Amino acid sequence: MQARRKSSNVLLDTALQEFYGAADEMGLSERLISILSRSERQVKVSIPVEMDDGSVEVYDGYRVQHSTALGPSKGGIRYDLGVDMDECEALAMLMTWKCSLAGIPYGGGKGGICCDPLNMSAREKEKLTRTYAARIEPLIGRWSDVPAPDMNSSGQEMVWILDTVSKMRGHLEPSILTGKPVTFWGSFGRNEATGRGVATCGLELMRILGRNPEDVTAVVQGFGNVGSYTAKTLNDAGVKIVGISDITGGYYSSGGIDIHKAFEVIRKNPKKLLTGFEAVGNCEKIDDVLFTEAEFLFPCARDGVINQDTAAKVRARYIVEGANGPTTPEGEEILDDAGVLIVPDFLANSGGVIGSYFEWAQNLQGAFWTEEEYNNKLVHIMKGNFRRVWDYAEAKRVKMRRAATMTAIQRVADVIAMRGMFL
Ligand code: NAD
Repeated sequence: MQARRKSSNVLLDTALQEFYGAADEMGLSERLISILSRSERQVKVSIPVEMDDGSVEVYDGYRVQHSTALGPSKGGIRYDLGVDMDECEALAMLMTWKCSLAGIPYGGGKGGICCDPLNMSAREKEKLTRTYAARIEPLIGRWSDVPAPDMNSSGQEMVWILDTVSKMRGHLEPSILTGKPVTFWGSFGRNEATGRGVATCGLELMRILGRNPEDVTAVVQGFGNVGSYTAKTLNDAGVKIVGISDITGGYYSSGGIDIHKAFEVIRKNPKKLLTGFEAVGNCEKIDDVLFTEAEFLFPCARDGVINQDTAAKVRARYIVEGANGPTTPEGEEILDDAGVLIVPDFLANSGGVIGSYFEWAQNLQGAFWTEEEYNNKLVHIMKGNFRRVWDYAEAKRVKMRRAATMTAIQRVADVIAMRGMFL
């Protein structure tokens, strides 16, 4: 039996220990545990960039393919000073489980560049991105590895990568990555997909609990891409959103927040913030909404907000994780003891990667779906996935996070058993 891995990197160690815990609970064989606790491929590249002042900086770039058992590895490319191989490996493994659970034909990957993108000019960022693209070009392809935007990257970076790779190959390859602008091979619906999926999980939970959405109160932390569309979808379904927040603070109204006014405020704000919303939204300014009285909490801002210090103050009975990793293991223990039910991130926010799969599928066919087609398919898949995890958790008497991990690992294990070890 091969020794089990440990890592000094907190993110990687958490991912490994959650995997080992779930694998042991489901009785996965040691041979499959050994295979799946390691990445298939890890590549590090150096990226020289001539800066605007004429100096040369050499950046480190990474791409990790954790598993391609189910299909091409799928996962974003992030630009951040915290990026290293361990972080990419942890996130690539989580993508394997997320894609598997989502029921889409993808494995898991992740990449990134260790840099400070907020202090780089657009020209410097373009050179950085194009050289990174050229150096990882042998890895990426519609049937091998399909990147997407992640922290501090967007449609612009995807277009630079796509353009670079297409020029190297001598023909346009729109299906090698997702998250492209709608004007250039992107898809209608993708922008709202993650939030729509998060809200769909919340609404499914209400349905299973026998609750009418119109009698339910909720708060949403974060009003960026995920939070704003989570709030809008819940609001459209009749849920009373009593609080929203972003880095400018929280906004509370016992009668319900006017979500449309909140959208108007961020649309007019150059940084897309809720600055001054209390005046036009007729609500009260508070510190944050994490501890506000409401039945449902949707943390959609960032990781680690529900932790050892904050978990005991949370008053919601149900938490649907829109952000990646908003609850730390210590925070979760406190919530478990208090009987709070958590819908885990890699189920709740998988609308993003399911939406990316829709974009890829359209690109492969050279087709364009309407927004309605896209949204209907997304909601249908999210509802089915939620139900599958719920039923598994009930049958095995485990928490939803554990049930989701076990369901995800099982599909990958089944396919490896069918395909054999030479993948
Ligand atoms: P974003 O940058 O668009 O929005 C983040 C929002 O959170 C902003 O409104 C910001 O002001 C707010 N915020 C940050 N720190 C906060 C704090 N301490 N308290 C309250 N508000 C705070 O980012 P996003 O794309 O919406 O992503 C949010 C989270 O969801 C991240 O964890 C991301 O990894 C995850 N996620 C995003 C997607 C996607 O498709 N965008 C998919 C899956 C997971």
